[in-house]
Amino acid sequence: MPIPHPPLVDLRRGASPAEWADWRWQTRHRVRTVAALRDALGLPGAGTPDAARVEERFPVGVTPYYLSLVRPDDPADPILRQILPSDEEAHATGQEVDDPFREEERSPVPGVVHRYPDRALILPTNFCATLCRHCFRKRSWAEGFHVLDRAALRRAVDYVRGEPGIRDVIVTGGDPLHLPTGSLERLLEDLRSVPHLEVLRIASRTPVTLPQRLDDALVDVLRRARPLWFVTHFNHAREVSPDAASTLRRLIDAGITVQNQAVLLRGVNDSTEAQVALSRALLRLGVRPYYLHLADPVAGAGHFRVSLADAVAVLKGMFGRVAGFGVPRLVVDLPGGGGKVPLEPDFVVRRSGDDVWFESPIDGGEVRFTDPGDRS
Ligand SMILES: *Cc1c(COP(=O)(O)O)cnc(C)c1O
Repeated sequence: MPIPHPPLVDLRRGASPAEWADWRWQTRHRVRTVAALRDALGLPGAGTPDAARVEERFPVGVTPYYLSLVRPDDPADPILRQILPSDEEAHATGQEVDDPFREEERSPVPGVVHRYPDRALILPTNFCATLCRHCFRKRSWAEGFHVLDRAALRRAVDYVRGEPGIRDVIVTGGDPLHLPTGSLERLLEDLRSVPHLEVLRIASRTPVTLPQRLDDALVDVLRRARPLWFVTHFNHAREVSPDAASTLRRLIDAGITVQNQAVLLRGVNDSTEAQVALSRALLRLGVRPYYLHLADPVAGAGHFRVSLADAVAVLKGMFGRVAGFGVPRLVVDLPGGGGKVPLEPDFVVRRSGDDVWFESPIDGGEVRFTDPGDRS
């Protein structure tokens, strides 16, 4: 007789509340195999021929906290889809490549990507405690995980110091908040000492997957680096848990600007309803939706891609439903490193002479507007 699987084993594994709230415990206890992930959620095991190949190339990693947000009885759970490997990760279509933006070629020193004249990325680590299946840098997982040491971090800052055109640095990764707090503090202070650096950003998914990381000591380090633009990556309203919300509140209370970059993912958030719910959940906390990225043409993540027409339709539906500043900018990152370009929905229905008929975002009705023309 088959033994029924428990619906959800205790993800806390006997952890005390203090352990659960400790990001080190969460990182140490992250789930690292498909088998353990399925086991933890009580999902039936599916050892397909592709599964082992996928797991070898694109490993698994999930914090117990993020896993606790999954509703295991929902096969289409938007959180599960972001962490459970799919056989489709092994399917090459020819359209997707490892490094569509040729970041490796635009890396003047290790850990720096310099593509725009005025902006540069510093990537102190390729490690994340939760590995998102849609990650556009998943090519780097096969290298093994590493952190830049103190000398390498200094060389990255020296590069910025030697390039007076750089006004804006984005510390990203991997997740840069996996640096030890002291190293991060030194990095931010060193960057702050560069006279031509005007804008400092941190891009981190820890508010979503490991909100425990933003403890008092770290928030204090970030507070002292102000003005700091913190950019995070919520893809679904269900990720805005009470823990995530309290972390975002603490960042905002510390005077840090928080914005969100989501990725439009097939089967996760590719509907106007999902995007409106996400925007509302963020706006309620004072977080501004910044970009909605098209999933990039990355090998191992092609199954998340949505057509341009569908993406624009999702965005178009948001107008009139949330505050103007709650509608993110839909962007395509051009292959080869050409930069990000916006995709805008078109509300013009037809034109006749100076008359233009628009579609109302409120009721869909057609409204005539007369172009005043050139009055100079
Ligand atoms: C996205 C990106 C930036 C920042 O772009 P913004 O549009 O200013 O947010 C900078 N450098 C690289 C390489 C990027 O991919």
